Amino acid sequence: MADPAPLSPVRSAEQPPVEKFREFLEIRGEKLTEPRRVLIRHIFDSHKHFDADELVADLHEAGRRVSRATVYRTLRLLVEAGLLRELRLTNRTAYEHDYGYPSHDHLHCTECNKVIEFNNEEVRRLREAVSLQHGFRASGHRFLITGVCPACSRARSSPRRRLDLI
Ligand SMILES: [Zn+2]
Ligand SMILES: [Zn+2]
Repeated sequence: MADPAPLSPVRSAEQPPVEKFREFLEIRGEKLTEPRRVLIRHIFDSHKHFDADELVADLHEAGRRVSRATVYRTLRLLVEAGLLRELRLTNRTAYEHDYGYPSHDHLHCTECNKVIEFNNEEVRRLREAVSLQHGFRASGHRFLITGVCPACSRARSSPRRRLDLI
């Protein structure tokens, strides 16, 4: 699931994610604990689409001790704080950076679970046009194309070739 991101992060004078999260927690009367700091550093190290279990496994592999409960609760808080975006895929919920990252949409391969990002001006134009029609002020949208990626299509259409590779 760790696809290289084709979109470059938005460079701006905004605060680093960890500072933004600290502020968010302070308003709620909560503290930025050490496990939470470890978690947010790890998450904002690279842009990818991940689910909670992958993150737990990833942290474990990196030798970082963060409990599963902390991971789940912190992910929810990061979404509320506007740092992460929830991505409802067909069979699971994934997360990705929202803060400091340009808005984009996704293609999801239901065979290999690969997530591909794309940016299309027409999607945004359509959002505005539909919103206008309904007197609606749009703040966001979800657009997910599900299907089969080229690699899986090839493997599917020629099972013999797949056997040749083994
Ligand atoms: Zn695929
Ligand atoms: Zn994405």
